[in-house]
Amino acid sequence: MIPFNKPYLTGKEAHYIYQAVSSGKISGNGIFTKKCQSFFEEHYNFNKCLLTTSCTDALEMAAILIDTRPGDEIIMPSYTFVSTANAFVLRGAKIVFADSMANNPNMDVDKIEALITPKTKAIVPVHYAGFACDMDKLMELARKYNLYVIEDAAQAIDNYYISKDGTKRALGSIGDLAAFSFHETKNIISGEGGMLVVNNKKFEQRAEIIWEKGTNRSAFFRGEVDKYGWVDVGSSFLPSEVIAAFLWAQLENMEDIQAKRKSIWNTYHEGLKDYAQKNNIKLPDIPSYSTNNAHMFYMVCESLQQRTEIINRLKTNDILSVFHYLSLHSSPFAKDKHDGRILSESDRYTDTLVRLPFYYELTDNDIAKVINIIKQI
Ligand SMILES: *Cc1c(COP(=O)(O)O)cnc(C)c1O
Repeated sequence: MIPFNKPYLTGKEAHYIYQAVSSGKISGNGIFTKKCQSFFEEHYNFNKCLLTTSCTDALEMAAILIDTRPGDEIIMPSYTFVSTANAFVLRGAKIVFADSMANNPNMDVDKIEALITPKTKAIVPVHYAGFACDMDKLMELARKYNLYVIEDAAQAIDNYYISKDGTKRALGSIGDLAAFSFHETKNIISGEGGMLVVNNKKFEQRAEIIWEKGTNRSAFFRGEVDKYGWVDVGSSFLPSEVIAAFLWAQLENMEDIQAKRKSIWNTYHEGLKDYAQKNNIKLPDIPSYSTNNAHMFYMVCESLQQRTEIINRLKTNDILSVFHYLSLHSSPFAKDKHDGRILSESDRYTDTLVRLPFYYELTDNDIAKVINIIKQI
């Protein structure tokens, strides 16, 4: 059996968890949490990082930080995970769904200006498969209309946006805020886990307070205030040190993990490109402004029927391939709230995108087997 995903363990996770447990401090914001946060801040030029229990939680923190209120409109792609939308729906916002691009499931930035109204508060780009949205264009639009940008960078760890002048900036370092996931299906994992990146300095202090249940406890521990209390809304968004210790083992092996994943990605691409072209299947079209962090390998089929055939044929051979999002604008929860615009690209990815098995321990033999079965169709 070749599964779709298999969480990779570097071998050091249990060791660091043991270390965290025997230190006697296993609640949040301890040594391992700080090590992980500093790692990200230093490696990716993120202004301030706070580990969270999930990307979903980081998005919820972002929604609180920008002061989302009933009546606010938030623009995001329809082709995304429910958490991108739920975070803002929980605060009463109206979601305005944008269509994807023809050559890439990311939001089509050229179609966003038409969706902006006086009620628009933020744009939430999702870097699908880790590939960058067109951030320079998006940030320009956000500046013009005075909107916040919150990057859903759940899949985009260790990936970069390349500006026209060649400058590279890590995804997650560009928007006012960004959310990452360390769920076991992502490149770098901790079972469940996530991170909020606070790039806009005006949110720094409040982010810490919301993270710590609405108290100024972090400032208290730094000696900045002499007692701590309830100063704002908040919740328990911090992961325990057990989770952070696990994550630290992964971060120490990040280069190795990423090199392996990129090699798997390239093997798929090389092995499938001729077949794809002959059969009207599109392989990922990496934008010129994005690098590739090898988060997943997907194909966009010509039709639902062709995709079903590929999934079934692989399944008959004990290989699990899976489709992905169902357009949120036509979901049972959102369809009566949606304004009726037809988002045909998003619906097309809903019907035709398929993801192939992708994990660190996938061998060259496994990949060859997947490719050969697809080629027989
Ligand atoms: C995985 C994912 C999430 C949710 O991440 P969790 O850590 O499971 O909460 C949100 N958005 C996108 C685009 C994702 O891929």
